[in-house]
Amino acid sequence: MNIEMIGFDADDTLWHTEVHYVQAQEDVLKILSPWGETEQISRIFDQTIVKNLSWYGYGIKAFILSLLEAALQASRGELQAYQVDQILSIGKRMLSEEIVLCPHVQETLHVLASSYPLMLITKGDLLDQTTKVKRSGIGDCFSIIEVVNEKSPETYAKVLKKYHVNPVNFLMVGNTIRSDVHPVLALGGAAVHIPADTTWEHELVPGFDTTQDNYYELEHMGQLSDLIAQIDAAR
Ligand SMILES: [Mg+2]
Repeated sequence: MNIEMIGFDADDTLWHTEVHYVQAQEDVLKILSPWGETEQISRIFDQTIVKNLSWYGYGIKAFILSLLEAALQASRGELQAYQVDQILSIGKRMLSEEIVLCPHVQETLHVLASSYPLMLITKGDLLDQTTKVKRSGIGDCFSIIEVVNEKSPETYAKVLKKYHVNPVNFLMVGNTIRSDVHPVLALGGAAVHIPADTTWEHELVPGFDTTQDNYYELEHMGQLSDLIAQIDAAR
C-alpha cells in the first residue's frame, strides 16, 4: 500500500471523551432519581439520544438537548427550572473539560507528521471540536481538519476526493469500527482499530469480521509508527 494520507479520529482516539459523557449521564440520573429507577431512566436517555441524532447530530450540545428532553419525559414534566439549569451546567462543564491525550499520541503524531500528511476527521459540533483541537496542543500535526456530520463511506469518499487522495491509499486510525474502520474498508482503504476503554454502545458493530484484508488492530497508539512502516514496506 502506498499511503498517501493518514486519517485520525479525535474523540477517544486522540483524547479521552466518552468518560465525560458517562459521568454526565450519571450526574443527570442523580437529579432524576425521585422519578424512577436508574435502569429505566437510562433507557429513556439512550432512546432519546439515538432518536435525536438525525435532528441534532453528534456532540455535547446535541447530547445535552437530548438529556433535557429525556429528563422532561422521565419526570413527566415535573422537572424544575433549577434542575434544568443544573443539566445545562453539566453541559458547560463538559465543554470546558481539560483535554487529556490518550497514551503515546503526542510523540506518535510528531513522528508520522514528518513523513505523511495527517488528517483529523471527526464527528460532532464544529465549534467544540475546533476549540478542542486548538487546546490539545497537537493541532499543528494535522494538515487537514474535517468536522463531519456522519462518518459514512460517502462522507469519506467526498472528503478524499476533495484532497485528491485515492481511497485505496488512505489509512484511517480510530477507536470505533462503525465510524472509523468499516466505512474506510468499504472504500478499499486500510484501517487501524485502537479500541478505547469505554465505547458508546451505538458505535459497536457486533459480528464484525476482524480477519478481513487491510484491517489492523493495536492496543495503543505507541504501536502505530511500526505498523505503518511495515504496511508501507509491503507495498
Ligand atoms: Mg472516536
